[in-house]
Amino acid sequence: RLADITRRFTGDNARTTVEQNILLRWIHEADLPALYQALREINLHAAGAQSIVDVTACPGTDTCKLGIASSRGLAGELRNRLAEKNLQYDEAVRDIRIKASGCFNSCSQHTVAEIGFFGSSRNVKGFRVPHFQLVLGGEWDNNAAHYGQTFGAIPSKRVPEVVDHLLNLYMRDRQNGEKFREYIARRGKKEIKEEIAPFTTVPSYNEDRSYYADWADAREFTIGDIGVGECAGEVVSLTDFGIALAEGLHFDAQVAIEKTTDQASVDTAAGLALDAMVSAAQALIKVQDIDISNDPDVILQEFRTRFYDTELFFDPFAKGKFAHYLFNAYKHRNDPKTLDIALRLIEETGLFIEASHACNDRLQAAQLSEPVNPFKNLVSRKVTAVKA
Ligand code: SF4
Repeated sequence: RLADITRRFTGDNARTTVEQNILLRWIHEADLPALYQALREINLHAAGAQSIVDVTACPGTDTCKLGIASSRGLAGELRNRLAEKNLQYDEAVRDIRIKASGCFNSCSQHTVAEIGFFGSSRNVKGFRVPHFQLVLGGEWDNNAAHYGQTFGAIPSKRVPEVVDHLLNLYMRDRQNGEKFREYIARRGKKEIKEEIAPFTTVPSYNEDRSYYADWADAREFTIGDIGVGECAGEVVSLTDFGIALAEGLHFDAQVAIEKTTDQASVDTAAGLALDAMVSAAQALIKVQDIDISNDPDVILQEFRTRFYDTELFFDPFAKGKFAHYLFNAYKHRNDPKTLDIALRLIEETGLFIEASHACNDRLQAAQLSEPVNPFKNLVSRKVTAVKA
C-alpha cells in the first residue's frame, strides 16, 4: 500500500534514509492533505521524523543471532514515552538523536548519537539481567563528527528513567544555547556518571521479576539459560567483584584525559586501561583458580592457557579479537604512548570488559545448568612457565 501511495503522489520515486525512514520527494503542496490521509490509513502518519522521538534501532534479539538485548523493544518503549512529552520539548531537545543497538556492533549507529545504547547482560546473584551500555556525547550532525563515550551499564528496564533524568538535567542546567553534547562535555564524565549511578541497581529476583525480562518479551531473560530457582547465592562472586574493579579502572582511565591531555595524563590513562584489562582477565581466572597470582605475567599466561587456547573467551562473532586487545596492550606496555593510542586502548578496554562479562555469563550458565563442571580438567592446572 505504501508503494501505491508513493506511485500516486511522487511518480514512482522514494528514498530510504540511514535513520530508517522513507523519504517522499517533490510532493505538490496541494496534495499534502490527501497524502497525510493516505498515510494515516496505513498508520505511517506519526509526526516526529528526524527528532528525538524517531529512535533508531537495529533488529537486536528479535531476529539477529548476535543480539544480546532487545534494541527494538527498548526503542518502542522510548518512542512511546517521548511522544507523550514531545510538545513540552523545545527545539534543542527535539534535535537530540537516540539510537539503540542489540550488541556492540553498532548497527543502529549508536556511537554517533547524542544518547546511544548497546545491549549487554549482567549476572545478578545467578540470574541474567538485560542491560544496555549508555553512550553519551556523539554527534549525528556535521557528518557524524564526534563519537560518544560509554558511561556504564544500565538495567534495560531503567533506561527510560535515565533518558528522562538526562533530559531534565539538560533542560534545567544548559547554558546559552549549549547543545546536549556540549552540556555532557562541560559536566564531565565523573559528574554525569554520579547522576546515573542511582539507576544502575537491580531489585532481587523475588522483589521485582520484571527486571529479569527484556522489553517486548514476556519470557524471563534467564530462565532458559540457568533454570528456575537455581540461584548462585546471596553473595557477589569474586569474579563479579574483579570485573567491577576493572570497570572502575576503565572509568578512571577515561577521567584521566578528560580535562588535560599532557603526556603524564596520557601515560596514566594508558596504564589504567591496561590495568583494567588485566584485572578483568584475573577475575575470569578466579572462576577456575581462586588463588591466581597478582603478577600480571602470570595472569597473562594463565588467561592465554585457560581462556584463549580453549576458546572459552571467544565471542561467537568476533572470535579471539578481544583477547588480542589484551595481548597487544601488554606486549607494547612499555612503548611510548600518544593521545590517540591511549584513546584506542580505552576503547578496546571497554570491549574487553564487555567480553569478560559475556564470558562470565557463559561460565555461570554452563555451571548452573550442567551437573558436570565443564572445566574440571582445567581447575587443577598449575603454572609451569612464566615469561619474564
Ligand atoms: S548491532 Fe548487533 S544485534 Fe544489532 S543488528 Fe548489528 S550485530 Fe545484530
